[in-house]
Amino acid sequence: MVAKDQPFTGARPEWSRVGSPLETNQTKAVPPMISALLPNYARADLAFERGEGAWLWTTDGRRFLDFGSGIATASIGHGHPHLAKAIAEQAAKVMHVSNLYRIPQAEKLAQRLVDASFADSVFFCNSGAEANEGMIKMMRRAMFDSGKEEACRIICFEGAFHGRTLATLAATGNEHYLHGFGPVVEGFDHVPFNNMNAVRDMIGPKTCGIIVEPIQGEGGVRPADMQFLRDLRAVCDEYGIIFGMDEVQSGMGRTGKLFAHEWAGITPDVMSSAKGIGGGFPLGAVLAKEKFAKALVPGTHGTTYGGNPLACTAGNAVLDVILAPGFIEDVERKGRKLREATNAIAKEFPSVFVDARGMGLLQGLKCVNPPGAMQAACTAEGLMTITAGDNVLRLAPPLVVTDSDLDQGVAMLRKAAAKVAGQP
Ligand SMILES: *Cc1c(COP(=O)(O)O)cnc(C)c1O
Repeated sequence: MVAKDQPFTGARPEWSRVGSPLETNQTKAVPPMISALLPNYARADLAFERGEGAWLWTTDGRRFLDFGSGIATASIGHGHPHLAKAIAEQAAKVMHVSNLYRIPQAEKLAQRLVDASFADSVFFCNSGAEANEGMIKMMRRAMFDSGKEEACRIICFEGAFHGRTLATLAATGNEHYLHGFGPVVEGFDHVPFNNMNAVRDMIGPKTCGIIVEPIQGEGGVRPADMQFLRDLRAVCDEYGIIFGMDEVQSGMGRTGKLFAHEWAGITPDVMSSAKGIGGGFPLGAVLAKEKFAKALVPGTHGTTYGGNPLACTAGNAVLDVILAPGFIEDVERKGRKLREATNAIAKEFPSVFVDARGMGLLQGLKCVNPPGAMQAACTAEGLMTITAGDNVLRLAPPLVVTDSDLDQGVAMLRKAAAKVAGQP
């Protein structure tokens, strides 16, 4: 920074040149060692060309059963004709106009979500982290507007995952993810999951609200006790603080209800959604009761892409499938079937698994050792799975998974477990 009263010479100050790790004369004459696609992921060496339902085919013609759904996102499976057609037709008409104008597709999707949930109003964005950012801003601003200007702190839970942006990382609170990224965004307090005494102890005059996942996904497919969710609702009412839910992974039918909190018979005040809501098309949403939604008046929050005609067309097509009579009930039935199987497999291979847990079609097998070996063994059988925290192998098949798919997946899982257990 050059002081205002000094002429700018164009020379960088000494401290920035000496020993700066970024100091370099490198040009393209020295070929870079890094891949063109940023290597921030440890990717499996598999590339898929097409899919149908719960199945995917690689570019070299191998077939895999997808029990990961692109991290619980391809909710109505791959190549769903209704979704594909809706997107193609809308793309040919108009994809994007910005939120400077009315967007009928967004108005329709919002109305349908309002009709199907506790919410009175919906804000659309593009991802889960963005939905959580919007939810956090809404919670803080609503509290601010109610005259409690100091009440900006949000209680979150150990083992949570809320995203990778700076504020949602702070809400996540995982040391490993925060490491090296500078000052942690202020205003998040963490307490143990499913521990009501710890929540009560943490609430103070600066508390704005609570954000909880009804079932922790990334953290290890760990469901909240339903009584814990009811107690959180009660404590929020008691102290006049805001109850926020992160249903980015658990929502849109994944647990056998449209939203997982319905299992507890309570409603949050504000809620984030993403992943399954677009069926693979990037879409996120903040759903809220009027009292809180109205905090975000014009000028307080916004997005360029969020809720554009193409994304909302995808969202509407996904809802057409998920809200069809009997669909979510069938997810619940299939979830129970999968759980019976994982329970049995966990019992059959006690040297590999500690237990089975989960809700609906979001199921986990807690492994004795890190779940990488189990995941690799599943892949070798042709079954795609995901890992999660707490040594968990996560299963999140598309909601359209068939009974036959489930039977085949369970058979592959059992074979993989037998291999890992060292049995022939
Ligand atoms: C995946 C996830 C997020 C982050 O969503 P992105 O779309 O990756 O930003 C936030 N919360 C939960 C519960 C999630 O599972």
